[in-house]
Amino acid sequence: MKLWQSLFKNYVADLIKNKYIVVIVALFCTSFSFSQVDEVKKMVQQLCSPSFHGRGYVNGGDSIAAAFIANAFQTKGLQKVGASYYQRFSFPVNTFPDKASFVVKKTDNSEEALIVGRDVLVKENSPSYHGTLIYRIVPTKLLFVEDSIQQIVRKAMEGNSYNSIAIDLRGVGSDTLKILKGVEKQFAQFAPVVVITEGKFTWSVAGEQLNNPIFELQANKADGSPIKIQLDAKLQPNHSTQNVVGFIPAKKKTKSTIVFTAHYDHLGRLGQETYFPGGNDNASGTAMLIALADYFSKNPMNYNVLFIAFAGEEIGLLGSKYYTENPLMPLKDIRFLINLDIFGSGEDGITVVNGAIFQDYFDLLTAINDEKQLLTQIKARGYAANSDHYWFTEKGVPSFFIYTMGPNRNYHDIDDTYENLSFAEVNDLHTLLLSFIEKIDTLKKK
Ligand SMILES: [Zn+2]
Repeated sequence: MKLWQSLFKNYVADLIKNKYIVVIVALFCTSFSFSQVDEVKKMVQQLCSPSFHGRGYVNGGDSIAAAFIANAFQTKGLQKVGASYYQRFSFPVNTFPDKASFVVKKTDNSEEALIVGRDVLVKENSPSYHGTLIYRIVPTKLLFVEDSIQQIVRKAMEGNSYNSIAIDLRGVGSDTLKILKGVEKQFAQFAPVVVITEGKFTWSVAGEQLNNPIFELQANKADGSPIKIQLDAKLQPNHSTQNVVGFIPAKKKTKSTIVFTAHYDHLGRLGQETYFPGGNDNASGTAMLIALADYFSKNPMNYNVLFIAFAGEEIGLLGSKYYTENPLMPLKDIRFLINLDIFGSGEDGITVVNGAIFQDYFDLLTAINDEKQLLTQIKARGYAANSDHYWFTEKGVPSFFIYTMGPNRNYHDIDDTYENLSFAEVNDLHTLLLSFIEKIDTLKKK
């Protein structure tokens, strides 16, 4: 072989070898750095799909989600605490299981079907309503006369064929709004109420029904035309649901336990056509909970790790309340608890509720973040009763509630979808949380 041939051959061999190394390294990096976000995205997509019905109270959505989580816990090798992954409990809830249709009958005899969740919203504590709503907009000055609510309603509806009243609080000053807070609920004691509004709707879930329905109507649909309504509401006095609990024992037997929590319930359906997917709130946190369960199942710690997916959060933190009143393991053995709720973005970092209270834990979290260059910002907040950590905090369990911050403003509306989530920091959040748990032993237990 001539020299140039031999050199050329070596060069090609090197090239091939290096190329393989490059490909192998690239494959490794890709699978390593993208595996969390891919798995999390897939789970969020499933939890947000129509077949989960918004993980609420129509078509068994909450129980479908619970079965999905229990199955994930089993697949990842988590143990049951007791006979099942479920901790069952029940509460009253108002549901909208069937019809929810709104048709505006215009003066030219044309009709316009309103989009539920976009043009019109039913207040969560509304009863059924079947009929044509003819509403009178109550002049704001009438709200400040010395009459009783009943007299105001009667006067507003006097004379014509009005069967309901509307209030238009757009452009009303914030001080006046404060005074009038809840006025629609008082009116609903006597007649159906329309609240005229602009901007995004925010839905919720209630455990009771009012005497009359309250409808929120976008101003561009509120020209005074009658609205033909078919709305089925059903109060379930004893809706049965369940927290989902999985356990990973420590390498060596101990009582000391780290707890991760996330609520999996959302608002469910408003009729058979409309549902609230709850992507950010809280399919995102539920998926991260399962991703962490996967990690700690493969990498057991010096403490046990308990995972709790709560039901009934949106109706008033009921799943976590039930758990703290009926703990499956002693609350005093909880080394630290981290609650994940709203976990789908992170472009603007995270906020840590209780971060200002458990300062040394917060310092550890920020030190890890600085060292590993993960999130752009970690903000500390004080005490707040705004998610499932609350009942644990009340019982003296050291805890954080962490939520992500970013441009996504979809909250309790039909746009809180899988598609609208950025998943910007899933990998970094995963790294931050597991590094925090791995280093938590450097701190003294309070
Ligand atoms: Zn939430």
